[in-house]
Amino acid sequence: MSCGDPHEIDCGQILNEVYLYLDLECSDDRRSVIKTHLDECSPCLREYGIEQEVKALVARCCGADRAPLELRDRLRAKITALVLETPSRELG
Ligand SMILES: [Zn+2]
Repeated sequence: MSCGDPHEIDCGQILNEVYLYLDLECSDDRRSVIKTHLDECSPCLREYGIEQEVKALVARCCGADRAPLELRDRLRAKITALVLETPSRELG
């Protein structure tokens, strides 16, 4: 996934680290790097929104704020498919 704009850090790497970002498991340094990237890269920001959804879902379903990786992957794939099926045109 890429928005076509060059970034200091590869989008794939950011998306890998988004989990850490959400879990507050990465250093302040990395967090600011990720945040900067999300600010300038809307595809990644959208993906980040998906991760937040996954976390909320997991919290609701499992009562825990961490899910096994396998479950996360399954949820993520499902939500990604949903997003891709939904027209993303803004109103107006
Ligand atoms: Zn990106």
